[in-house]
Amino acid sequence: MKKLIDPHGRHIHKLRLGLLDACNFRCVYCMPQNPKFMEKSKLLKREEIFRLSKALVKFGIDEIRLTGGEPTLRSDFLNIVRDLSELSLSKFGFTTNGLNIDKLLPELKSTKIKNINFSLDSLNKVGFHKMTGSSQLEKVLEAIFMAKELGFNVKLNAVLMKGINDREVNDFLDFSASYDIEVRFLELMRIGEARESFDKYFISAGEIIKRLEAKAVLAPVKRPVDSTSFNYELKNGAQVGFIASESRPFCGGCSRLRLSPEGSLRPCLMKSEGYSLVGKTEDEILELLYKTMALKPTDRIYEVSESMNIIGG
Ligand code: SAM
Ligand code: SF4
Repeated sequence: MKKLIDPHGRHIHKLRLGLLDACNFRCVYCMPQNPKFMEKSKLLKREEIFRLSKALVKFGIDEIRLTGGEPTLRSDFLNIVRDLSELSLSKFGFTTNGLNIDKLLPELKSTKIKNINFSLDSLNKVGFHKMTGSSQLEKVLEAIFMAKELGFNVKLNAVLMKGINDREVNDFLDFSASYDIEVRFLELMRIGEARESFDKYFISAGEIIKRLEAKAVLAPVKRPVDSTSFNYELKNGAQVGFIASESRPFCGGCSRLRLSPEGSLRPCLMKSEGYSLVGKTEDEILELLYKTMALKPTDRIYEVSESMNIIGG
């Protein structure tokens, strides 16, 4: 199969697939507190998700991560996963807030999904509520442990906000060491809701690393060239990654495209343009794939007004 290479020589092979924009959390950095979600009729149907994904895989995509909004809120989530399990993928995963997935996990075991990224911004109830608007920390933690026990590759993602949860970094590292789970700290990004209070809450990966280095030795871990994170291991076994999208953008090695919940193929998280693939033939999809790749920026775009849940984070 011919590799998908964009005009700047980047090998494009990963797809973020947004299943819906709705969510049962209200993370302060992600969406407005009273959001208006898309009409269900606008969302891609299960059959169209499969048809478009199959075509994109035929043309060179080999990794898919489901996202949203909260992807597990789709009532046909399991069926979508089962459909996509038929595709030839080297990696298949999803990103979740973990709230309602306990019942799904045993069923997911019999699919090709292997990788689950849980968003977990705080390990204490007060902080968790402040960040997500939810008081269900315990339930999320139980789901994380269950996923780990069932043998999924589990990672935690925490968006760090100065003065809100940045003092929890060491707790997360202890958690990582105790449960053998990689924790990745995400820099707050200038996206949608987060733009207004960005300067107040942003803390760079460099600042966190400086704090950590004052107390512990961080041994760098080798990662693939198109990895969005740079990683370290600590003596106690903690595995920590940093996704420093603002201070250390990774556009030069980006290998990703996005399919939005209503079926628009988009070149970048930070770009609102894209081409709708809905109802298109395979030949048309291939043409639009190249047109979309041509839109991929080489440098970090400063900000985007759309909220993360709409773009599909
Ligand atoms: N609901 C799922 C979840 O929370 O994992 C999937 C969708 S969520 C939009 C995907 C990821 O985007 C989460 O890890 C979330 O923390 C991150 N995110 C959302 N808004 C962000 C922002 N302004 N800056 C950095 N990360 C953000
Ligand atoms: Fe929902 Fe995920 Fe956004 Fe939080 S980050 S509001 S869980 S979509």
